[in-house]
Amino acid sequence: MKLDAGGLPVEWIEWQQAVSLYFTDKIAWEAGTEKIRLRGGRSRETGVRSELAIDSIIAVRDRSHRFARNLVPALTRRELFHRDGGLCLYCGTRLTFGHMQIEHVVPRSKGGPHCWQNVVSTCEACNRFKDDRTPEQAGMNLLALPYEPNLAEWLMLANRRILADQQAFLERLAPKRDRMSA
Ligand SMILES: [Zn+2]
Repeated sequence: MKLDAGGLPVEWIEWQQAVSLYFTDKIAWEAGTEKIRLRGGRSRETGVRSELAIDSIIAVRDRSHRFARNLVPALTRRELFHRDGGLCLYCGTRLTFGHMQIEHVVPRSKGGPHCWQNVVSTCEACNRFKDDRTPEQAGMNLLALPYEPNLAEWLMLANRRILADQQAFLERLAPKRDRMSA
């Protein structure tokens, strides 16, 4: 996981990318407790095998992401599915990813924006029934309130193979949420 030099999470990177950051001396500091060890070739002179230990959380000297604090994570179908726990937020049915639909709480025709706070995942039946109405007009209740994940939450939603120390690091940056609506 890559952080900016201020310690904010930026993105997931593949180990190949991490290697190039180490070799170009871009690592500012390391914050993980896990290391990924890569073995290189043997040195012809010394016979010693080279080894590179990549930290699971690395901060990078890189100014291109310095506005990460205000960055709104992309509204993507997969991360929305995980944010809403794979459920229809109206009837609570467990959805498969392929059958999930993106529903605008305030319909777009009524000026509802396409943003995290105005979209929920739904089943097809609820989406069709609600149609071009607000939840109040349709007499439907949301099981949880839609929210905009911060970058730490988004990174947790985006990665299914997260290491324990990466998860702990991101959880410290994620706001505590009580998602049950009144
Ligand atoms: Zn439903």
